[in-house]
Amino acid sequence: MPKRGRTPGNAMTDALEGRCGCGSARYRLESPPMFVNCCHCLDCQRQTGSAFVINAVIEADRVKLISGETRAHRVPTASGRPHDIHRCATCGTALWSEYGGNTALRFVRVGSLDAPASLSPGAHIFTRSKLPWVALPEDVPAFAVYYELSKLWPAEAQARRKAALG
Ligand SMILES: [Zn+2]
Ligand SMILES: [Zn+2]
Repeated sequence: MPKRGRTPGNAMTDALEGRCGCGSARYRLESPPMFVNCCHCLDCQRQTGSAFVINAVIEADRVKLISGETRAHRVPTASGRPHDIHRCATCGTALWSEYGGNTALRFVRVGSLDAPASLSPGAHIFTRSKLPWVALPEDVPAFAVYYELSKLWPAEAQARRKAALG
């Protein structure tokens, strides 16, 4: 049994704000996210050009766009379900994703926060395609593919998710 995921802590600041590369699109998370996943899948590697993506899962209505505009770019997925990446309309930096056509949840890219260290992953997923030089910490559960949400997410986070999905 994997250990229970960490509740996303935010010891550094109450306000979680972030922005795109050109600075025109700014957003604020109005509460800490429900959960943070670090995804090592090939799609995330390709879409970021990097080793993994860090996604903070949060209710869509708790993400406030303070300035600028975003534009959705649909990318193909193995499952065939939609994945829309929302990018700054000016510079194209990815700020968050919506999966499966579900607009109630956003997967905010933690690297776009003003203080990316504010949130750390509660789970590493798709480690089967993890780059070999990435060393994972021992105190965070890691999964070759994915996990059962009901076994990993804190009860409060599961309740928030349920409420958001209606
Ligand atoms: Zn921009
Ligand atoms: Zn992924």
